[in-house]
Amino acid sequence: MKKPTITVIGSLNMDLVTVAARFPNQGETILGERFLTTPGGKGANQAVAAARLGANVRMMGAVGDDSFGKELIRSLQNEGISVDCVKPVTHQHTGIASITISEQDNRIIVVPGANHALTIEDINECESAIAESDVCLLQLEIPIPVVERAVAIAHRHGVRIIVNPAPAQPLPSSVLEQASFLTPNEHERVILFAGMDEETFVDRLIVTEGAKGVRIWQEGQERLIPSFQVPVVDTTGAGDTFNGALAVALAEGNTLEEACRFANAAAALSVTKLGAQAGMPRRQEVESFLS
Ligand code: ATP
Repeated sequence: MKKPTITVIGSLNMDLVTVAARFPNQGETILGERFLTTPGGKGANQAVAAARLGANVRMMGAVGDDSFGKELIRSLQNEGISVDCVKPVTHQHTGIASITISEQDNRIIVVPGANHALTIEDINECESAIAESDVCLLQLEIPIPVVERAVAIAHRHGVRIIVNPAPAQPLPSSVLEQASFLTPNEHERVILFAGMDEETFVDRLIVTEGAKGVRIWQEGQERLIPSFQVPVVDTTGAGDTFNGALAVALAEGNTLEEACRFANAAAALSVTKLGAQAGMPRRQEVESFLS
């Protein structure tokens, strides 16, 4: 089978992870136990998920002209992802997520930096790459006007579009109307359709419901495609794995139901391992799991 081509338009972050026994109190300094840096950002995560599952993937986004930016580009190249549409910008630092993990809780601060410096002009310059794609996959960690422009270009070229509306926020009606699929989790679903008639969009709605599975509507009939039961180690990146895998399966011509089953399997495998990108399965693992 010919490899499908997927364009992911979204964020690239360096995750700065500190592990500590507890959080410091106000004004207090404590010693942590461990520190690591690891590539992240919903865009890059979904690109890695799709590449490991066998697609030709091109990433569109922005990084700073700094060491994190170079490292993120290198890590995508190591996954075989095209980075010619990842723009290094000089006026902003690479996006970061400062993540503190303690025994009781996790706390995260995201500083978007270069992710918010991606412009409509950057997307216009990559129009031919969008036009050549089987599927375009987007999330909301880049400016919404950029999402809107990319969706409009993909729609004009008849390219299938998956919008993962995360982090939760309302979207312009053009995006809701032109998207082929919208993939909120239960919380994002509420925010996305607040004050609107959700019924108009159920034909393109795929709601991920964690360990329960995913909810879809076919000819107006609601259906739950159940998740796979697995031993859970770390659910970070489950949603990103699901979206990357869904894009691959749809681009390969599977039905929505088959694509959701494949994406459920990939996401289930990802929760059995630690880390977002580190836990993402390869094609062979998903196929053996499903056979
Ligand atoms: P996250 O933000 O943790 O990456 P999310 O909130 O975007 O995830 P979820 O709905 O929690 O998305 O999970 C996405 C998909 O991952 C689910 O539809 C399911 O296929 C799979 N998944 C999540 N949690 C589990 C679990 N405990 N067991 C099996 N599969 C799971």
